[in-house]
Amino acid sequence: MDSADTSDIVGADASCCPSTDTPSGRRRTCRTYDVGMTAGERLRRYLNLINLSTPVGLAVAKAAGCSLQRGPRGLLVAQGYTWPVPKASAFTLGNVVLLRPTAAHLAANSVLMGHEARHSTQYACCLGLPFLPLYGAAALWSLLRTGDLASRNIFERWAGLGEGGYLERPVRRRRTKN
Ligand SMILES: [Zn+2]
Repeated sequence: MDSADTSDIVGADASCCPSTDTPSGRRRTCRTYDVGMTAGERLRRYLNLINLSTPVGLAVAKAAGCSLQRGPRGLLVAQGYTWPVPKASAFTLGNVVLLRPTAAHLAANSVLMGHEARHSTQYACCLGLPFLPLYGAAALWSLLRTGDLASRNIFERWAGLGEGGYLERPVRRRRTKN
């Protein structure tokens, strides 16, 4: 994606929203993608476009051979992700939610998509791709404290552990010397 014009993303699934030729010869792109989005969701979509996290998500989706469709809240859903990392059945890059084939049904799960939308907001708050090392550090911290990557990961907690399908593990007790 090399354009700041959101109509490029709007046109990601032309079958749903075809561009039409106007009498003046200019192509007009349908904006139904915007319908129902809040001002905050539009702002998030714009920020993740210019901070390059969504273009990176689209590039990964394309390179991985995913099919793209529109999701809720200004998200784009990339179906059919099969690369080995990350192992999660669903993960988010900017406004793009990538789903493994075994998780295709999650596109219709509003709870999970709400969780992923909050990760999308986190990208916007972190100015885009800096989210990834910050998330990695938070996951490592959680692993050391609890033995899993999410329970004390501040990003997963903000996105909602339960909504993301995580069980909260207790913090490990430190050994005391006697
Ligand atoms: Zn999550």
